[in-house]
Amino acid sequence: MFENLTGRLGDVLSKLKGRGALSEKDVDEAMREVRRALLEADVALPVAKSFIDKVRARAIGHEVLKSVTPGQQVIKIVHDELVEMLGGAEADTSISLRAAAPVVIMMVGLQGSGKTTSTAKIAKRMTTRDKRRIMMASLDTRRPAAQEQLKILGEQAGVATLPIVAGQQPVQIAKRAVEAARLGGFDVLMLDTAGRIHIDEDLMAEVAQVRDAANPHETLLVADSLTGQDAVNVAEQFNARIGVTGIVLTRVDGDGRGGAALSMRAVTGVPIKLLGTGEKMDALEDFRADRVAGRILG
Ligand code: GDP
Repeated sequence: MFENLTGRLGDVLSKLKGRGALSEKDVDEAMREVRRALLEADVALPVAKSFIDKVRARAIGHEVLKSVTPGQQVIKIVHDELVEMLGGAEADTSISLRAAAPVVIMMVGLQGSGKTTSTAKIAKRMTTRDKRRIMMASLDTRRPAAQEQLKILGEQAGVATLPIVAGQQPVQIAKRAVEAARLGGFDVLMLDTAGRIHIDEDLMAEVAQVRDAANPHETLLVADSLTGQDAVNVAEQFNARIGVTGIVLTRVDGDGRGGAALSMRAVTGVPIKLLGTGEKMDALEDFRADRVAGRILG
């Protein structure tokens, strides 16, 4: 999803690379082009501006401009600041399970963002890789086949799901799930909440009620990277109203422009923890700022 940005940045930075001497004017010119490339990739304006200010301030320092390889140094500064913008190389983006079992993970997000798929992917990985006992429960009582969809994914992934009881409301299901996970000796309970096409008060009130009933240890927002700035706005609103501990950014295998991935952390302050990289159950990657920055710079 970063192909375009990678191409644009590559063009700008390769002009600097071989240069034996750089002036402040050269740096300014390059920064203008980097800024344009970021905005075209749909990076939020304040994020792009702050990024450029930081790179520029470091790049026009005497040690850089007077060094033997000023172009290389500017490129390194761009890399370092990209890593910072994405949350830092040392950021702990793991899902925290340090709480009394069953650890509750609540999944939230808009309909179609990839919430149910991501729930099953994470559950499968915790089962096979981390050897944890996971139970999943769908609280989506609005979309007719939502609960069955999670059950089928659970069967495919070898993960238990809460038995479906017709007619129950989300909060009732959440309470029943916590009890069933506790009695069944499960390590982790994943709650797949309902989404809507748009954020509305009904959705937020329902998710807030589920949160209060289930007391989640992690609240993961699932956001579709193809929706760009909208994904960032959705994350901001969920975080303000519900409190989000991590973001799962889906469809990074699609041809989005990358802006959501780049702005998300800086705008919301919430770490991206996982990337959805396809429809298959194993298409899930840990988010690593340095790896993503490396990918962007090609
Ligand atoms: P929900 O309404 O948020 O629960 O969304 P679903 O989990 O049902 O996903 C909607 C569609 O997006 C399904 O067809 C998924 O297979 C697909 N999907 C989910 N995550 C990804 C991803 O990371 N990449 C791609 N290409 N498709 C995805």
